Amino acid sequence: QRLRDAAERGLPARTRDGHTVEIGANVNRPDQVAMALDQGAEAVGLMRTEFLFLERSRTPDEDEQYAYYRDMAAALDGRPLIVRALDIGGDKQVAHLGLPHEDNPFLGVRGARLLLRRPDLLEPQLRALYRAAADGARLSIMFPMITSLGEVLELRRIAEGIRAVLGAPEVPLGIMVEVPSTAIQADIFAPHVDFFSIGTNDLTQYGLAIDRQHPDLAAEADSLHPAVLRLIAMTVDGARKSSRWVGVCGGIAGDPFGAALLVGLGVEELSMTPRDIPAVKARLRQLDHVALQRLAAEALAAGTAADVRALEGRLS
Ligand code: PEP
Ligand code: MG
Repeated sequence: QRLRDAAERGLPARTRDGHTVEIGANVNRPDQVAMALDQGAEAVGLMRTEFLFLERSRTPDEDEQYAYYRDMAAALDGRPLIVRALDIGGDKQVAHLGLPHEDNPFLGVRGARLLLRRPDLLEPQLRALYRAAADGARLSIMFPMITSLGEVLELRRIAEGIRAVLGAPEVPLGIMVEVPSTAIQADIFAPHVDFFSIGTNDLTQYGLAIDRQHPDLAAEADSLHPAVLRLIAMTVDGARKSSRWVGVCGGIAGDPFGAALLVGLGVEELSMTPRDIPAVKARLRQLDHVALQRLAAEALAAGTAADVRALEGRLS
């Protein structure tokens, strides 16, 4: 039985009618990669680099970061790695950065906004990443908390400048979709990015105006709320106009029914906590893509998250 489980985990997430999605793991450390691969991961779809800053009492310098990204890629042995640029602010506070107090940090200088204000954080990280790429690491870079096209153009310009100085190869540059403005304008962003990864934890928070950590509102902060699903559908539609792929790396990707709905909505890659991978793969392998597309259409027309969840009974 255990051998069979292990063999099944290694199978692709292919529906009965032959539609395949890529399954990544959300992993931050090189020493966790082997465990993720054992669970059936085919890639790392989200490496949260804040952890490099949170596990130390000081800022890691460029060389330390370079070694870390290189080791991460080496552990993946040629499989894809998506590294997210530093996402500080909101729920991710780093005391040793000495950032000013904000009354409303979730709506403040977070993610890309901080990166653009702090070249001393952004530039060493990009240099470390391009150096790793120059050494053969197969990686992509993803920017967090994007809310406007100007941010994307500026981040691309800075990244391209660093790449040119280092003579490093081109690296796919993607953005996270965590804010409704970016989902709504996905068609405008698409020509300027190589891929999109939807952060449903924040997209739910900002779409529904519910603090993602609020203890009394956890049930209402449901990523399967039809309004959140419409934002996901808008992202997929906008991305397709420029033939860009869309993944999801928020928590709902690791829920078997949520994953099924996302695939029905046209999401092509799912990245999740490693222990969620076997159940998601097994579920997708039981289903038909055409049925999931019908299910997704019904979910988009639903009134409430409860109505969406009730659709689960329709799946055989
Ligand atoms: C998200 O917001 O869904 C996400 C994946 O990013 P984080 O949870 O790190 O904010
Ligand atoms: Mg987020």
